[in-house]
Amino acid sequence: MSMQWPEKVVFCEVGPRDGLQNEPEVLSVDRKIALIEGVAEAGVPIVEIGSFVHPRAVPQMADTDEVARRFRRVEGVEYRALVANLKGVERALASGITKVKLTLSASESHAKANLNKTPAELLEGFKECVAFAHANGMEVSGAISTAFGCPFEGKISSGKIMETAARMTDLGLTELSLSDTTGMANPRQVYDLASMARSEFPEVSWFLHFHNTRGMALANVTAGMLAGIIRFDASLAGLGGCPFAPGASGNVASEDLLHMMDEMGIETGVDLKKMIALARQLQEWVGHPTDSSILRAGTNADLVPLTAARKQG
Ligand code: ZN
Repeated sequence: MSMQWPEKVVFCEVGPRDGLQNEPEVLSVDRKIALIEGVAEAGVPIVEIGSFVHPRAVPQMADTDEVARRFRRVEGVEYRALVANLKGVERALASGITKVKLTLSASESHAKANLNKTPAELLEGFKECVAFAHANGMEVSGAISTAFGCPFEGKISSGKIMETAARMTDLGLTELSLSDTTGMANPRQVYDLASMARSEFPEVSWFLHFHNTRGMALANVTAGMLAGIIRFDASLAGLGGCPFAPGASGNVASEDLLHMMDEMGIETGVDLKKMIALARQLQEWVGHPTDSSILRAGTNADLVPLTAARKQG
C-alpha cells in the first residue's frame, strides 16, 4: 500500500501572534511590520498578524492596531488576527483586518486559566462576534485549543473535542483548527483525531497547530497529512508558546516544517531561503536561541557544497 501524501499543503505563519506573545521582550511596531511583510513576500498565503485582546492580558500584543493599520498588504495573502470578544472584532475591522479567529478550549480548566471564563460563557460571547463579523463582511475562523491534551486535565476525550467542534460549527464557522497548545500530541493520536474530525465534519476546512514542546511536532504534521489534512500553522524560528500553560514552549519552526515539505516534494509555494533569513533575523531580535533545527544545522541543500569541498580537499 502506498502512502497518500498530499501534492501541496497550505501554510500559515503564526509567529507574529503565537510566536511573539510569549516573548518577554516586546518587538517594536516596525519590526513586527517587517516580519509580517517579509513572510508575505516569501509567499506565505496566510499570516496571523497578532491578536486584538486586552493589553493587560497580553501586553506583547498591545500595539496590534497600529501594526495592522500600517503593514503593506500583498495581494492574495490572507491576514487574520486572534480575538476573544466583540471588542476585538471591532478593533480588527477598524484596523483593516477582515478575518478573525476565535479560540475555544476543549478543557474547562484551561479556559478558566486562559480567559477566566467557562467554554459555555465564551460561546455566548462568540455569538455576537460572529454576528458582527458577518454583518460587516468579515470572515471568522475557529480554533479548538488543548485538543490533544490539557496541562490541568490531561487527555481530553475525542467525544469532547467533537462536541467542541459542533459548538463552533453551530456558530456558522467552516474553518477550524485542532491546536496542540501545550505540545502533548503524538502522531497516532493526531491521525485518529484528524481522521475523525474530517469524517464527522466533512464541510470544515481543518487546520493543525502543533507546538514542539516534546519533539513530536513534525511527526504530528506527518500523521496529519496521512489523515488527509493539508493546512498547517507554524512559527518562524520556533518561537512561541502559551503564557498561561505551564511549561509550554515553542511552535514547530516554520523553516523546519517548510524544509520537510520541500524534501518530501510537497508544494508549499513558500520560498524557504527567504524564510530562513527572516527566522535568523527574528532570532537576533528576540536575543536568545530558539528551537529551530534548520537554524542550527542548515538545510539538506546546504550540505551539497560542503560535500563538494571535501572531495576537492
Ligand atoms: Zn499555539
